[in-house]
Amino acid sequence: MHNIAKEETSGPSNSAHSSRRQMLTRTLSAGVVLAATGSLIVAKSQAQAASARPEHLAPPLAEPNGIPAVGYAALSAAEPLRKFNFQRRGLRPDDVQLEILYAGVCHSDLHTVRDEWHSSSYPCMPGHEIVGRVKAVGADVTSFKVGDIGGVGCMVDSCRDCVNCKAGLEQYCLNGATFTYNSPEKGTGVNTFGGYSNTVVITESFVIHIPAGMDLKATAPLLCAGITTFSPMRHWKVVPGQRVGVVGIGGLGHMAVKLAKAQGARVVMFTSTPAKLADASHLGADEAVLEDDEDAYKRMARSFDFILTTIPQSFDINPYVELLKTDGLLINVGVLAPITPGIDNRQVAGMRRSVGGSLIGGIEETQEVIDFCAAHKLQADVEIIPIQEINKAYERMIHSDVRYRFVIDMKSLDLS
Ligand code: ZN
Ligand code: ZN
Repeated sequence: MHNIAKEETSGPSNSAHSSRRQMLTRTLSAGVVLAATGSLIVAKSQAQAASARPEHLAPPLAEPNGIPAVGYAALSAAEPLRKFNFQRRGLRPDDVQLEILYAGVCHSDLHTVRDEWHSSSYPCMPGHEIVGRVKAVGADVTSFKVGDIGGVGCMVDSCRDCVNCKAGLEQYCLNGATFTYNSPEKGTGVNTFGGYSNTVVITESFVIHIPAGMDLKATAPLLCAGITTFSPMRHWKVVPGQRVGVVGIGGLGHMAVKLAKAQGARVVMFTSTPAKLADASHLGADEAVLEDDEDAYKRMARSFDFILTTIPQSFDINPYVELLKTDGLLINVGVLAPITPGIDNRQVAGMRRSVGGSLIGGIEETQEVIDFCAAHKLQADVEIIPIQEINKAYERMIHSDVRYRFVIDMKSLDLS
């Protein structure tokens, strides 16, 4: 009734810089080798590559110090992910190389692979919930040593100079953050490749420290789903005793319930999936409401301090606005598209409510959510898959058939 069409997870869009991507795509189409220092994309047009090497590409190592790597990538929006050999940049003095152990599967991965945001470059290798073991460090690296466990979330770089970067808001970098995949690398413009791979090279200041004792496979989703839901609760100051609603119980939503509860809120979860009602107490929700329960919506009208929606596509927001009390806040983190049919400002203004949005979180805050989860013994509910199952996992994710996050065990990847 209230149109929770899908309640899978979403995260940041990698939709900036589309013109550079178009340029990159044109360059690729022309068959030019991009011999740059980043996640190397190789010669041959997509069509040539797809037809000549249907199983995987085997690009030449165009950079002398490049690191051979293997992952899963899509060669076009219409194709499934498949094994793909490529190259990571050679270590710069401030770089850390991780051997990837686990990579979470976010709804943004699927949006990007299928070019649903109309900004994807191919080959496209997603993955921005990465946990790995440090394999090598550059000469100037001081905070990581070989063998440490590190995490990488949605960003791998930013300008580090603008007012937002200096405020720890790299995700809102005025010059454009470099996202972990499908984003032009600073200085080279080369398309970044994400964590569906055996290794990644990142500048030290964008690597998150993972405290000892955390369950690594269940920690990976904190790097997108965790921070994306934690950041708005911190920014808008959710405090103990407040009534918090979480709309859409997928990867993001289930972490939002856990994080809100750990911050002392009274949490109500809203789901379109009857089977998820039974998970309410396990997740920490005080109450669970099915989307078509009109009576519940009437009963709860004007009772919420804060509502977080995690639905990854357009939906009717107005029934949730009506649930806010005077001065209540509704924050959207799932959808990165126009919200239809629009917001009725009679409802918003009539109770001095606010409706807003939030995108992932900065690097310092990402470390904060990891440390918070370590301290409160919070982790994601995960279903571990081998990388060969990724295309099947996408289909299940579309149908909300995951409790609550797929995580790829990178041991499954054939490195040949
Ligand atoms: Zn994500
Ligand atoms: Zn910046």
